[in-house]
Amino acid sequence: MDFNLAYGGIILNIPLLDLKKEYELYGKNIEKAVVEVLQSGSYILGDKVKQFEREMANYLGVQYAAGVANGTDALLLALEALDIGEEDEVITTPFTFFATAEAIAKVGAKPVFVDIEPDTYNIEVKKLEGAITKKTKAIIVVHLFGMAAEMDSIMEIASLHHLKVIEDACQAIGTEYKGKRVGSIGDVGCFSFFPTKNLGAFGDGGLVVTNHPEIHEKICRLRNHGSIEKYIHTSIGMNSRLDEIQAAILLEKLKLLDMFLFKRIVVANKYFQELHHVKRKPPQYTDKRHTYHQYCVEVEERDRLIRFLNQKGIATGIYYPIPLHLQKAFQNLQYQQGDFPVSENVAKHILALPINPTLTVKEQEYIIQAMKEFAGVLP
Ligand SMILES: *Cc1c(COP(=O)(O)O)cnc(C)c1O
Repeated sequence: MDFNLAYGGIILNIPLLDLKKEYELYGKNIEKAVVEVLQSGSYILGDKVKQFEREMANYLGVQYAAGVANGTDALLLALEALDIGEEDEVITTPFTFFATAEAIAKVGAKPVFVDIEPDTYNIEVKKLEGAITKKTKAIIVVHLFGMAAEMDSIMEIASLHHLKVIEDACQAIGTEYKGKRVGSIGDVGCFSFFPTKNLGAFGDGGLVVTNHPEIHEKICRLRNHGSIEKYIHTSIGMNSRLDEIQAAILLEKLKLLDMFLFKRIVVANKYFQELHHVKRKPPQYTDKRHTYHQYCVEVEERDRLIRFLNQKGIATGIYYPIPLHLQKAFQNLQYQQGDFPVSENVAKHILALPINPTLTVKEQEYIIQAMKEFAGVLP
């Protein structure tokens, strides 16, 4: 069957994410919640933030949660709360969003990269111990695209070497590992509510979670100028708070989160069943609940496929085109091309396809048809 005939010659226009279309689903409730905050006279660290922190702690299965200004600050504050700074090394992956390693460098510590697993794109546990030195203080584990990292092995290695574990769960809210929500497994978990994340604010927002009361207390102090009691400052902190308006919005959107994650999983399962001709697609593991912040496949001839899909009105994305060890900002670390071959290879082939809560069945079928047409496998 000819592709264009099947769709009556109509070119659909399918973005990666459509926040405007999503807004139509919940806009009324958000507007009500925002107006309530506007009328309340309380805009910073008020009741909405407290309620959101309680609900998030409950959702994630942790004791404590602290709202902060964004996901990058969440990582920064986590590192500071664990006393990580100059002379320290922190292990992480070169295949993540820049902010993961940026936060390490920002506190004065040295990012040490370990290559990724070729199927999950998360840190390769087998290579972890080889990167540990006397200076290593912590590991920042990234649950990339919503796929949980191998937490049991990572926690075991960390405990053996007395290292702290920070989970960068910015792309993985609601992701599960052996029945536990990620962010709740390491010493500290960090989340982002950047608008495009699976739980997005209408601006910036972040969260730091932990089961350790002393870490939580420190985070709450550091996010607010080193102060818990007004005008009493016990350390140098910063200004990094989640504001009341964003908290009120997030409380509304939290009600829809599980339904939205479920829709992503349904879309991902369909891609999994239908896309037989890609080089690699996200594996499905029974002990992990992937939440598909991105649905990334690996393909040969990526540039040609991108152009082909674009002509059909289908948007795609590349996360991430350059691994962090090859970024100019980290050239002082003196890594070279070839140091992390898996990350470098994935960066050349990976391609994100549209996945979001408003993607329709018809739109997804159209994308699948286009992928099949490109592969030359349409009957
Ligand atoms: C988005 C993201 C961050 C940073 O979050 P912001 O809220 O944008 O500061 C950090 N790490 C990862 C893996 C992310 O995806």
